[in-house]
Formats: sequence, C-alpha cells, structure tokens
Amino acid sequence: MRYMLLSAILFCSCASADQPIALAIHGGAGTILRSEIGDSREAAIRADLNAALDAGYKVLEDGGEALDAATAVVVRLEDSPYFNAGKGAVFTADGRNELDASIMDGATRRAGAVAGLTRIKNPILLARAVMERSPHVMMIGAGAEAFAQEMKLEFVAPAYFKTEHRWQEYLNAKAKAAQPRAALPISNYYGTVGAVALDGKGHLAAATSTGGMVMKRYGRVGDAPIIGAGTFADERCAVSATGWGEFFIRMNVAADICARVAYGNSSVADAADEVVLNRIPALGGNGGVITLDAKGRVSMPFNTAGMYRAAIDGEGKRVVAIYR
Ligand code: ASP
Repeated sequence: MRYMLLSAILFCSCASADQPIALAIHGGAGTILRSEIGDSREAAIRADLNAALDAGYKVLEDGGEALDAATAVVVRLEDSPYFNAGKGAVFTADGRNELDASIMDGATRRAGAVAGLTRIKNPILLARAVMERSPHVMMIGAGAEAFAQEMKLEFVAPAYFKTEHRWQEYLNAKAKAAQPRAALPISNYYGTVGAVALDGKGHLAAATSTGGMVMKRYGRVGDAPIIGAGTFADERCAVSATGWGEFFIRMNVAADICARVAYGNSSVADAADEVVLNRIPALGGNGGVITLDAKGRVSMPFNTAGMYRAAIDGEGKRVVAIYR
C-alpha cells in the first residue's frame, strides 16, 4: 500500500504546482492593414480573439487538457464570421466554401485531419473525431462527411459559411483574375485559425482550421490539414501555421520547427524564427506560426504585414495583437 502511494506520487502525470499552463492562438496572417479594416471591424475582431483566448484558457485553468483547450479556441474562431475558417471562410474559384482542419496531441502523437468539407459546421470537431474515434489520421470530402454523420456531428447548409465580406472579396478576386496580368498580392488570398496549448500535465497540443485560399481550384488542399506542414505537436514543441499553404507543405514547416528543437538543440522560438523569417521567404512564400514549448514560452513570428494573434504565456502574460 505504502509502495503504491509512493509510486503514485512519483509517476503520476497530474498537474503540478510548478507546471505552467499557456495558450497561443491565431486568426491568420496576411496583408492586414489598419487603413483597410476600419475601427468597428477591428474592435469586433479583437473581441472575438479575446473570447476565443478566454474560452481555451478557462479549460486549462480548470485543469482540462491541452487538446480540449485548443479545440475550444478553434471552435470559437470557426464560429466567428471574421476569420477564414468555418463561418466566414473564403470562396473557391467556383464560389463555394471548402474547409480543412487538423489536430495533434503532442503527448501521444495521435493526430486527426479532414479536407474538402462543405457541410460540417465545425471541421475541427471532425478532425478530432477522426483522431479519437477512427483508426485513420486523414479523411476527405464525401467520406469524411459520411463519418461525421456516424459521429453525429452538426451539419449546416453550405450557405451557412457565406458572409457578405468574403463574397465581395471573392467577386473582386475573380474580376482581377480575369484581367490580364492583374492579380491581388497573394497574401490577400488567405487566412486560417489555430491554437497551441500547454496543460497542467505538461502536455502540448496544436489545432488548425481553414477555408484555404481565395479562388482555390480543383479540390486544392493547403497545409492546414497536413500533419507536419500546418499543424504539429510533440513532447517539447507545438506549432499551428498560417500562410501560403503550398510553401508550408513543401517546407514541412510545423514539423521542421519541432525537429530543429528535437535534433538541433534549438529553442522553439529560435527554430520558428529561422523557418518563418528566413527559410520560407527565401523560397518565395509567406505567412506565420504560433508556437509553444513545454515551459509555456510563446513565440508568434510572421513575415506578412499582420497576423491576428493572442496568447497567455506560462507566466500569465496576456497579449492580443494584429499588426507588426
Ligand atoms: N495556410 C492556409 C492554406 O494555404 C491559408 C492560411 O493559413 O491563411 O490553405
């Protein structure tokens, strides 16, 4: 009996007083200019970032798991019309919304991902169901939606995802695409939401959800649902990315950052800076990441004009920011 008690104390992975909790979230990187957003939209965006941060942090404060905190954040941001995920997603070339998401548990390396969804209200919940309730990691399109039906997840009519703001953005992009040699800068074309969380057991998790890029065609899938590219978590490092997905896939961005920590002795923040500020732009891509390490240190580098972001680090310091 005494031995059992002692081993419970020694080997218990429960929350300890000196294990910090922390959370970082993003609502996408890109050409985000104060002059274009306007005061009332900026206030609404900040309110939703704060609400999502609070929702996730409450889970952690109550002793909940990093996975649940990251999920709570992403659900809240998917439900907000201001971010390119769930409601408010960007439009494809043929004027539809196609959604992608993924989630990863750093402690066990379990992961779930979905792509090409058109009717699931919260794609991150389906990614989580794939991880926890199927033997697979990734499901796409009609098959993923059939699985969602079995899991009794909420379906919506495709029109649910439409907002006037995104529709006008789509019409503009379409008109520009029709003009010879005229194109919006690519960083106007995207946006995504994500979260990285550290819980009281010292476990990390990462989650990402997106509508992808404006005017995407042919069933295009970006980095957000690709484990290792847009989302990755292990025992020491968690990353959720946003940016020009093709580059993030080619550079395996999220996994590369964590590999630099695991094999290269880098801090998570230095690894994220090297990948986001040097390697991605060197190839011609752009975007940003949010990262966390197991001590609750947050980093949120980006190489675009702005990135919607917020965090409460391991010391309890809160930040909500949009511009550089
Ligand atoms: N990375 C996403 C994609 O390429 C878009 C974004 O993060 O802004 O689909």
